[in-house]
Amino acid sequence: MSAVKAAPVDPAALASRFQSAGAKAGFRYEVFGMAGGCPLFALTKRTAGIRPRIYLSSGIHGDEPAPPLALLSLIESGDLDGRATWFLCPLLNPDGLARGTRENATGIDLNRDYRHLESPEVKAHVAWLGRQPNFDMAICVHEDWESTGFYLYELNPDKRASAANPMIAAASKACPIDMSPLIEGREAKGGIIRPHLNPLEREKWPESIYLQVHHTRLSYTIESPSALPMETRISALRAALRAAIGVAMRGRN
Ligand SMILES: [Zn+2]
Repeated sequence: MSAVKAAPVDPAALASRFQSAGAKAGFRYEVFGMAGGCPLFALTKRTAGIRPRIYLSSGIHGDEPAPPLALLSLIESGDLDGRATWFLCPLLNPDGLARGTRENATGIDLNRDYRHLESPEVKAHVAWLGRQPNFDMAICVHEDWESTGFYLYELNPDKRASAANPMIAAASKACPIDMSPLIEGREAKGGIIRPHLNPLEREKWPESIYLQVHHTRLSYTIESPSALPMETRISALRAALRAAIGVAMRGRN
């Protein structure tokens, strides 16, 4: 069964902080499911005119509390403004957050469930995604318990303007970068992993593969090192997200 690693977070209290910060920043709060008595929700904000559509998600692993806090702080600081149309799913695994476990209450790693859709959380999320337009950029925000530094995955099959280097440069001002040539068993360079993959060959899909197959041609999974202090991890994630958002804006001009 799931190992408890992180201090549990009260997901209902965090959800209401997202709801009120989102309302102040002009976001629409939309409940698309329930898990363990806590809403599964999205925050969206559409601005008139042609804007890049940016999708951000976090909280799919319940032992990774910094990513939702980083997204909340970006909403509160006004960074998610009228320059883009926003699609946020910041608390995808409330049960896991409440228990401090990677998996949900029935032991499913939600970030491996996007091919077979066995969990109610992922079923509800995929149904919500099916009602959204395609995204110009998607970023899944994570943490890693084994890593000594920040790193990221890029899926960019069409070789669009890449946010990978700007994100690493920005994060490096807040925390070390994992410079290992091999991260999570994959070839890496300067903290960047560019997996060569055929989704159909993978038995279990993380959210990022589902997004690539159905919703976007440019996506990132970014990982802060869980061993560092919470404030450092939030700063690194914030810095990387702001850098990526900057690239998405420029890609539109
Ligand atoms: Zn994770």
